[in-house]
Amino acid sequence: MRVVRTRSGLGDALAHGPRPLGLVPTMGWLHEGHRALISQARATDATTVVSIFVNPRQFNVAEDYTKYPRAEDRDLAICESEGVDVVFAPGAQEIYPPGFDTVVSVGAVAQPLEGAARPGHFDGVATVVAILFDLVGADHAYFGQKDAQQVRVIRQMARDLAIPIEVIACPTVREPDGLAMSSRNVHLTPEQRAAAPVLHRALVAARERWEAGERSGEALRDVMRAELAREPLADVDYVSVADETTLQEEDRVDGPALLSLAVRFGSTRLIDNEPLIGAVPTTT
Ligand code: AMP
Repeated sequence: MRVVRTRSGLGDALAHGPRPLGLVPTMGWLHEGHRALISQARATDATTVVSIFVNPRQFNVAEDYTKYPRAEDRDLAICESEGVDVVFAPGAQEIYPPGFDTVVSVGAVAQPLEGAARPGHFDGVATVVAILFDLVGADHAYFGQKDAQQVRVIRQMARDLAIPIEVIACPTVREPDGLAMSSRNVHLTPEQRAAAPVLHRALVAARERWEAGERSGEALRDVMRAELAREPLADVDYVSVADETTLQEEDRVDGPALLSLAVRFGSTRLIDNEPLIGAVPTTT
């Protein structure tokens, strides 16, 4: 495994690697969710590149950036054990050299949900991912369904900028109690950690109501709110039942939809989602 920190080092490392080439962009503090993306890349691609870069531009709260957990040695050991070929771990100056002055800003799909709750977040994400796509020149890029809106934003960006890459979404990896794995989980106190599976319970409750035939968006949002209200430590940011393509809130769920939510436990903000695929119009 080669670890490279510069654009030119990356170019050298990739010059003669076999194709197809798969890229797994991460911010480090790797866990089972990242491992699943890497193993999907390893199964599909002849060369696997993992990027580790805590991107300052996607944090709208400066403190979140400084507080973001970092453990490069551990991350590199995980990459090695997963059979990664190249790790790209640049410093901020390598990605944003002095004088850097461009923002990649995606339109409608980046506006609701996380875009509304975290102004500027998706500008930072789209900008860094566009740079990574350009530098790596991968055939495939792997992203987690856990950040469902991020997948939509990246696909829109790649299509609009004519970047020839296939964006592959991989299922959310969860702890045994349903909590979606996240680097941010490390910030939870034991009490908050015990409360956090309520996100998944709320999604499951809404999914079950949908499976039972409920098609009112507001009724499904109410199911999530009611489940979350049972957990005193959960401070709800939003609950959403949205069209899965546009991510606009739905009055009625008559096609593929996305249940999603964001909840704070103290200063730690967690997100999760559950796709509802194959909704068919009902007569009720
Ligand atoms: P991050 O390091 O948190 O920026 O995440 C890097 C990639 O891993 C993103 O595409 C995430 O969506 C994905 N990811 C994070 N957590 C999970 C998870 N629990 N299951 C699957 N993918 C995940």
